[in-house]
Amino acid sequence: MTNTADAVIIGGGVMGCSILYNLAEQGFNNTLLLERDVLASGSTGKSQAILRMHYSNEVTARLAWGSLDIFKNFEELTGTPSGYTRTGYFLIVGSEDRQAMRENVAMHRRLGIASEVVSIEDMRELAPMLAVEGDEAFAYESESGYADPYSVTLGYANRARDMGAQVRDGAAVTGIEVTGGRVTAVETADGRIETRIAVVAAGPWSDRLLRGVGVDAPIRPLRHQVVVLRRPPGADADHPIIGDNPNGFSARPDIGNLTMIGAGEDEFVDADTFNQGVDMDVVRPAFEGIVRRIPAMSRAVFRGGWSGAFTVTPDWHPILDSIDGIDGLYCAIGFSGHGFKESPMIGKAMAELITKGSAECVDISMLNFDRFRTGDLLRSRYAMQVLA
Ligand SMILES: Cc1cc2nc3c(=O)[nH]c(=O)nc-3n(C[C@H](O)[C@H](O)[C@H](O)COP(=O)(O)OP(=O)(O)OC[C@H]3O[C@@H](n4cnc5c(N)ncnc54)[C@H](O)[C@@H]3O)c2cc1C
Repeated sequence: MTNTADAVIIGGGVMGCSILYNLAEQGFNNTLLLERDVLASGSTGKSQAILRMHYSNEVTARLAWGSLDIFKNFEELTGTPSGYTRTGYFLIVGSEDRQAMRENVAMHRRLGIASEVVSIEDMRELAPMLAVEGDEAFAYESESGYADPYSVTLGYANRARDMGAQVRDGAAVTGIEVTGGRVTAVETADGRIETRIAVVAAGPWSDRLLRGVGVDAPIRPLRHQVVVLRRPPGADADHPIIGDNPNGFSARPDIGNLTMIGAGEDEFVDADTFNQGVDMDVVRPAFEGIVRRIPAMSRAVFRGGWSGAFTVTPDWHPILDSIDGIDGLYCAIGFSGHGFKESPMIGKAMAELITKGSAECVDISMLNFDRFRTGDLLRSRYAMQVLA
């Protein structure tokens, strides 16, 4: 078994695997990724995997937009399809958020993102299955859609392996060894791996590892539920991806005439012991909400669902940074409900941060660790935090 590596990545979700691949792409391939379970077994495997660009901050919109291109060309890059499926994305907000939505879309258009404000008449033409109201406002992204989180994670890991990186599953990291203010090793039940670089990408479990080296990471696992319905036959229930603020859900189609509805983000949990099923008191309003938006869904059938953990920070934005006072320690954590769509660019930015000292592809400096101490948090134009 390898007992030295130039860098050890802790966590085999989409982030760890994207970082591993991007390091190898940048010629840094004497690396080892350690996953305690199997790849994509954490939040990644539970993801709704919606790819939308609508955010309130430039950095998140840029990360999502740059990533979309990579999802589109993923097979060329890695040899594995990403499952990118273009459906279009509609954001629907109430009148109180009309101005916020307009400002966001204006910002997106400045960045070159395919995003536009559309009228109720346009909506009736573009998405006739949706029931829309005169006091609502609408944004449309024609290129948005979804992809397959499992395929993307495995695609990154396998291509990184081809380039020389190593991936080990069933290998839980028990601690990070720091000597004289720098990383010297990563500890596992099977022994110590000497390294000068450790990257914590352990999703909702990351705070435990960081606490072991005296770092208090402000992240908490938040249970998020996904309700699955089978759509009735007929085009009147076929739908694009919808972010529906007035009804409080996001919905995406899936193969097999299924619809996944994401809802219910109000329960902080323990990442190891939380209930991974769906609650009927979330299913009922989700079902009623989608029927209000897509009347033909009144004939849909409840097929079950699951829950996963968002890893949230106080501003619902990630921490992409090195750790002050511990040379060689990095973290990519706290992605709440938007990590999947940003994972290709985050992997690239983190690899640049590690190999070059700063990210060149996108300025991620505002996603620093210190902002929770200084109070320089990112802000959303919306009250609904999941929209960020
Ligand atoms: C229900 C749900 C719906 C979502 N919907 C969307 C969406 O529509 N669009 C979107 O962009 N994002 C969405 N997200 C968010 C997105 O899925 C996550 O932000 C992303 O998958 C996080 O990836 P990660 O690699 O950081 O974490 P994880 O996937 O949790 O990976 C962390 C890995 O670290 C491993 N690990 C933990 N501790 C250790 C240890 N000590 N040693 C070794 N390994 C360890 C875990 O086993 C795990 O595999 C959703 C998330 C959930 C839960």
